[in-house]
Amino acid sequence: MKQELCIGIDLGGSNLRFALVDRQGRVLARCAEPTLPAAGLASLLARLLDGVERLRQEGARLGCGTVALAVGVPGLVCSDGVVRASVNVPVLEGVPLARELSAATGMPVAALNDANACALGENRYGAGRGYRSLIALTLGTGVGSGLILDGRLWTGVDGAAGEFGHIPVEPEGRPCGCGSRGCVEQYASAGAIARNGDDAAAVARRARQGDAAALAVFAEAGRYLGIAAAGVVNLLNLEAVLLCGGVAQSFDLLVPALRRELVSRTFPVSGGRVRVEQGTLGDDAGVLGAAVAAFGAVL
Ligand SMILES: [Zn+2]
Repeated sequence: MKQELCIGIDLGGSNLRFALVDRQGRVLARCAEPTLPAAGLASLLARLLDGVERLRQEGARLGCGTVALAVGVPGLVCSDGVVRASVNVPVLEGVPLARELSAATGMPVAALNDANACALGENRYGAGRGYRSLIALTLGTGVGSGLILDGRLWTGVDGAAGEFGHIPVEPEGRPCGCGSRGCVEQYASAGAIARNGDDAAAVARRARQGDAAALAVFAEAGRYLGIAAAGVVNLLNLEAVLLCGGVAQSFDLLVPALRRELVSRTFPVSGGRVRVEQGTLGDDAGVLGAAVAAFGAVL
């Protein structure tokens, strides 16, 4: 057998993305299936197993063994591999996803939050290489994050750590789906940036053409991200804050206000040294990070 491979899965609200990955982070094969959350749990599990089997056969064709898999899920995944909450894929709530997939495939399986997968991926293979402490912010439909402390993913006592999106930045601000108000997600997610029927990407295009209102939307999002990031940096003295996810494609539009807040609200020692960088893995951060978790499950 030439080498051992793992399968990383990014389970999104719309698509399941599968990648067959080697230890160097090279994607040797990939496939995708629709998530179709409304079709029910059995159907979703069947499509997950179908993708896994396709890539396992592809690995065998390459002369390699597939030894583990991991799946990143948009929601709260506890350290026992049970999905406790998922707004986008509610059919997974309460499901012991790691155990189910392990029983069906005979392989070790890890399940983790999708933002945690992104942080692992960027830390091992992307913009976070060489850093031992960082936060990767995932800016998309929601705002999430994964926290690497001292070279390890920090998931908290229950696996629920890293909810950067629900750090309050306006005490009496906009109500949030989490039950609180004024959470940073309400000011910096794709939905918060979207204006007048335009999506966040269209607002970004207008901002780049010099549209003052569009520029102000990104400046506001960057400002709130910076306020929340300053709290995290003051608390943890991190080496880097990485911006990942779809909205991070507007890094240049967000980062001036973000940096301004970060520097003005932190001590010079921590605020002066922390790097603010754009993730480099793009859409692959999730599958590559899941593969990192899968290789971790083999050891
Ligand atoms: Zn919230």
